[in-house]
Amino acid sequence: MFIDIDDIKESVLSRSYSKTFNDFPVLEEMVNAGECDFISPIDIKLNVKRNINVIEVTGNIETKARIQCGRCVEKYETFIGPAFSLTFVPEEGEDPDGLLDDEIELSTDDMQVVNFSGGMIELKDSVQEQLILAFPVKPLCRESCKGLCSNCGANLNDMKCDCENEYINPQFAALKNLKIDK
Ligand SMILES: [Zn+2]
Ligand SMILES: [Zn+2]
Repeated sequence: MFIDIDDIKESVLSRSYSKTFNDFPVLEEMVNAGECDFISPIDIKLNVKRNINVIEVTGNIETKARIQCGRCVEKYETFIGPAFSLTFVPEEGEDPDGLLDDEIELSTDDMQVVNFSGGMIELKDSVQEQLILAFPVKPLCRESCKGLCSNCGANLNDMKCDCENEYINPQFAALKNLKIDK
């Protein structure tokens, strides 16, 4: 996912890609570690605009993943579709025109800045990062998920157990599902 900045002419350059998790090392690690599965391709749409040596990239990523509910520890499917804006600026010493300082002040107030070198923008790491940031911090299979009984581990979405203790501690419940390797 490289873009040669010399390919960005006066108008906006549009690119789209369809990737899989194998194309992104950290996503592959997450899948191998059982943290998530990707159940559709990772579709990426980018618009790239060049302002002298400052390159602005706006994009959308869309995919579907299967992740674990933080309460009941069941896997569920969720749509992940972050939109993002990134500003790429040449690495120090790669601004032959010396125009960079003015440009940055104009455009990067609320944008994330990434360095590039050799006249090429590499988008894989940035796309991967944006996708990971879009994963829910507190994944829930549904708003009303009742979680697991902290006493017997029953999934209270499926059944009502006979325990008196109604307090749900998802961390404790999750521990019950851990297998210990010897
Ligand atoms: Zn749940
Ligand atoms: Zn119970």
